[in-house]
Amino acid sequence: MNAPATPSAGPRAGRVEVHGVQKSFGGVEVLHGVDLVVEPGTVTVVLGPSGSGKSTLLRSINHLEKVDRGFVALDGELVGYRRRPHRGGDRLHELKEKDLLRQRSRFGFVFQSFNLFPHLTALENVVEAPLSAQRRGRPEVEAEARVLLERVGLGDRAGAYPRQLSGGQQQRVAIARALALRPAVLLFDEPTSALDPELVGEVLGVIEDLARDGTTMVVVTHEIGFAREAADQVVFMDEGRVVEAGPPEQVLEAPRHDRTRAFLAKVL
Ligand code: ADP
Ligand code: MG
Repeated sequence: MNAPATPSAGPRAGRVEVHGVQKSFGGVEVLHGVDLVVEPGTVTVVLGPSGSGKSTLLRSINHLEKVDRGFVALDGELVGYRRRPHRGGDRLHELKEKDLLRQRSRFGFVFQSFNLFPHLTALENVVEAPLSAQRRGRPEVEAEARVLLERVGLGDRAGAYPRQLSGGQQQRVAIARALALRPAVLLFDEPTSALDPELVGEVLGVIEDLARDGTTMVVVTHEIGFAREAADQVVFMDEGRVVEAGPPEQVLEAPRHDRTRAFLAKVL
């Protein structure tokens, strides 16, 4: 949503440009040249059948996967690679590891399976990366972590261990943990798929709250209701390609492609 940003976390902006991204695994191409633009302060929902390349796309955006061709830029800065003309053919321009890590740290990633450290409390899970990776001071980081836990509705569970929390609570801790790194863009890979149905709403509610606050987000999900409510842009992927992209009322209510229609008929 295009709400004005209240800068509670770090430098905002967050314009993502994905250009011509190709990716193969073991000689099999699974992304066939994906283009995508995410405007700052907007929510992009990525839909598509299992195996269509949604996770690979999301992981390519912050270079958890190295793309074979194409590039990803964040606020005009290259995140990973770009083909550049070279004698005898194009060559990938590769960022230095240090620059790649700095760029990657501007993305927050929330996984389907939460991935919390089981031996750390909710609070310690949230402060861990800002302390170790960003080398910020504990008093400041801890104060901010408490605000973030409050924000995801877990202000009173800071001392709880993951096993003492429900799946929905664990995923909300994971969201607070991603926010603690003050990312410009949050990436969610099926954040509610591992949850019991009655816990889905509390997690989507937190994501919708972040959307109202102007957080730039890319959310892979099968929750069409969420897409309708919260998305500025809906992207439908099939077989490693973006089949269509547009505002939810267009892609969900008046899809242009048969494959989109067929998919929606199955999930609605
Ligand atoms: P989705 O998230 O839409 O279900 P994925 O991006 O996970 O799709 O997968 C797209 C295709 O790439 C699938 O055919 C999958 O088997 C394949 N794939 C994904 N990751 C790997 C990997 N690490 N190694 C080999 N094949 C992979
Ligand atoms: Mg996936």
